[in-house]
Amino acid sequence: MSQVIDKGKRIIKKEGGPAGRPTQTIEITPTIKLRDLAEKLGMEPADLQKELMNYNIFAGINQPVGASYAQKIAEKHGRKVVVKAALSAATVVPRRVVIQPPKPVIHLSERPPVVTILGHVDHGKTTLLDKIRKTKVAEGEYGGITQRIGAYQVDLGAQGKITFIDTPGHAAFTQMRARGAKVTDIAVLIVAADDGVMPQTREAAEHAKAAGVPIIVAINKVDIPGVNVERVMTQLSDIGLVPEEWGGEAACVPISARTGEGVDELLKTILAVAYVHELQADPKAKPIGTVLEAEMDKGLGPVATVLVKDGTLSSGDAVVIGSSYGRIKFMLDDVGRRVPKALPSTPVKLIGLSSVPAVGDQLHVAADEKAARAIADERGQKLREGLQASSHRATLEDVIMRIREGEVKQLNVILKADNQGSVEAIAEALPKQGTDDVRVHVVSTGVGPISESDVLLATASDAIIVGFNTKIDARAKREAEDKGVATRTYKIIYELLDEVGLASKGLLKPVYEEMIMGHAEIRQMFRLPGNKKIAGCMVIDGRIMRSDLVRVQRQSAVLWDGKIGTLRRVKDDVREVAQGYECGILLDGYHEIEEGDIIEAYVMQEVGRK
Ligand code: GDP
Repeated sequence: MSQVIDKGKRIIKKEGGPAGRPTQTIEITPTIKLRDLAEKLGMEPADLQKELMNYNIFAGINQPVGASYAQKIAEKHGRKVVVKAALSAATVVPRRVVIQPPKPVIHLSERPPVVTILGHVDHGKTTLLDKIRKTKVAEGEYGGITQRIGAYQVDLGAQGKITFIDTPGHAAFTQMRARGAKVTDIAVLIVAADDGVMPQTREAAEHAKAAGVPIIVAINKVDIPGVNVERVMTQLSDIGLVPEEWGGEAACVPISARTGEGVDELLKTILAVAYVHELQADPKAKPIGTVLEAEMDKGLGPVATVLVKDGTLSSGDAVVIGSSYGRIKFMLDDVGRRVPKALPSTPVKLIGLSSVPAVGDQLHVAADEKAARAIADERGQKLREGLQASSHRATLEDVIMRIREGEVKQLNVILKADNQGSVEAIAEALPKQGTDDVRVHVVSTGVGPISESDVLLATASDAIIVGFNTKIDARAKREAEDKGVATRTYKIIYELLDEVGLASKGLLKPVYEEMIMGHAEIRQMFRLPGNKKIAGCMVIDGRIMRSDLVRVQRQSAVLWDGKIGTLRRVKDDVREVAQGYECGILLDGYHEIEEGDIIEAYVMQEVGRK
């Protein structure tokens, strides 16, 4: 383990090279970060990034490079590489013995890693979560209480604790990220040995990689006679997860979630990886947390499961979560006990909130309940005002604007195509469309239509989505419109490459097409002070959204074109009103309306060039 502790130090040994010239030997860890490797090789991180792209590796400077690639690059630069002992479960000794002072910051202490289990459907995520929970949580004195709260913690005694997010699957994982909440420290990618790497395995790996989260692979169902673990390892290598045993960086642990074989080994590996990543928090800091689950409980009122990220949350604290607030009446832990305090990485259920917050919302502590309420009210107000103004971050126009302003140095692209051959060809060509200033980074690739999951990934990683000979499915389309994610499909490869190239140069002009979304007929008029009028309308077809552009029509003549000021149903501001419903519309700056006028709602949608 001492090798791991050395990891910050740069050890350069000199040896006699073949021509009498000394060949420098550098030592690296299997998880060496790009920045550190660049330093060891005496090169700029950006240059190293470029070299890695030749191997189709698109790593950020704080991301691990992978021992095998580090080796290849180092050899090109005339260095020899010594990879320090790959981390395996066997190297984990009880942490209290291992952890050596000094620690630079007084209050920082280690915190349990937060782990999400990802994988293809039916590969055993739920069974594994249940198994760990049954054997490590409920077997103790609180045995039997198995109230699900969205996360639970296992205690491995002297070795430490691990927090598992209890909602398996990458949809939850990515949704969290899309909301800007990074809760997962480590992803366990589960692959059933009898089934092997499947599309969702690949997708999950890409999501974890895009999030910069280290991946541990659990090769599951090894109790099934005749399964071939090596075959799975080969498939894993093909998707860029080269097992440590084969010189790569992916820790692979064969397990059976059903019998429990290998599960202890997996837990130890998680702790080992957590150890290397030095997860720390300050229990004395101001508490912050993230909502994992929230609901309205009949007896308790609004309840939220919060994962404490930093500081110590205490019963009685005044908290603000989004536009919800309250004084914590009491907190329950993952086995249903009342607890007075919750340390970093601990999930707790909070009771005492004014309303149900949203998953992914951040918790902060305020001075007192009054202050909490004031902050929450103000946010609520902003939220209502700006419902639509949110997160239009990845529209092509916006990305291009930011490229022009020099704010964006990288164009992230998600690529979908009709077959693996096209995917490979295009993925290889895309980075070449970049410029010296703006590189093109392929975040994820896949075969098939553009899906909702692609859109979520795009939101989370600020990417645009391009499809070749493929479609965008209906739900993904809606989600993309809602989130403002640019999606384009092409039938000719060079057009796709050209447009991405133009985009990376900040030159591509988006093409817009008008789409009529719905009509409302004005049936009544309500006068407001200042000669303003609210139009009492009936939506006669489609829907009207607060964010829509509108035009007022009278007998097919267009009287005005503009925006909606407010959209109301009964007394509430709303985002959308569907066909067959009444609503009140205040136009933004036009009041010459009359009964019988038609309000036509439309949007300008970004489309591919013809
Ligand atoms: P999920 O969709 O990934 O949550 O998968 P589940 O945990 O629901 O498991 C899918 C199926 O595989 C269930 O019938 C499980 O009983 C079975 N299963 C899960 N783990 C194992 C295992 O280690 N060995 C065997 N033989 N079956 C397993």
